Amino acid sequence: MPSGITDSLLENNARYADGTAVHDATHPGVQPIQPARRLAVVACMDARLDVEDLLGLKTGDAHIIRNAGGVVTEDTLRSLVISHHLLDTNEIVLIHHTRCGMLAFTDELLKAGLEGDEEAAGILAQATGRKFTSPGCCAASPSAFHAFRGTPEPLDAPRDEDNMARLAADVRRSVAAILGHPWIPTEGEDAVTVRGFIYDVDSGRLEEVD
Ligand SMILES: [Zn+2]
Repeated sequence: MPSGITDSLLENNARYADGTAVHDATHPGVQPIQPARRLAVVACMDARLDVEDLLGLKTGDAHIIRNAGGVVTEDTLRSLVISHHLLDTNEIVLIHHTRCGMLAFTDELLKAGLEGDEEAAGILAQATGRKFTSPGCCAASPSAFHAFRGTPEPLDAPRDEDNMARLAADVRRSVAAILGHPWIPTEGEDAVTVRGFIYDVDSGRLEEVD
């Protein structure tokens, strides 16, 4: 399966982490709609991830799909199917990261807090260092927040064996969700490659998840 572009991105990332990357912020002029590197990236919305910089991407190189956690939701799959079948991308890079906020709560806890559960609101306030003001009502959507599985830890906790294992488990689950989708081909000449990574926000380095 093709994965040449992703390997070159890892070389770019090493330069970024070393402080020797060159960012070109000039408008490139007229470009085709298809991403030049035939790449789609799924990454967390965390403010410390500058996806273009950390992968050495330029305007026009890739589709970048971001949400809280970089999780593979129905909307992520929608974008990936369009990206591949209509806009000719054939490599997908999935990026989770250390200190992710999705390690610090559970879906049940956030939902209970939003619906008015005072104990939940108190736990969330303590976890985030921010007053949690509950709207105190129910809502049909979003149906899930996709917090990472496992025991929640304090917000912005440094990496350790436990949270790295939780991150890696979610990367594997997300890669499997993409590879298992009936509209994402993984064999034949139209095959798509998917690789998953954890980005260390302290060092600036990507680490591949097996
Ligand atoms: Zn995150």
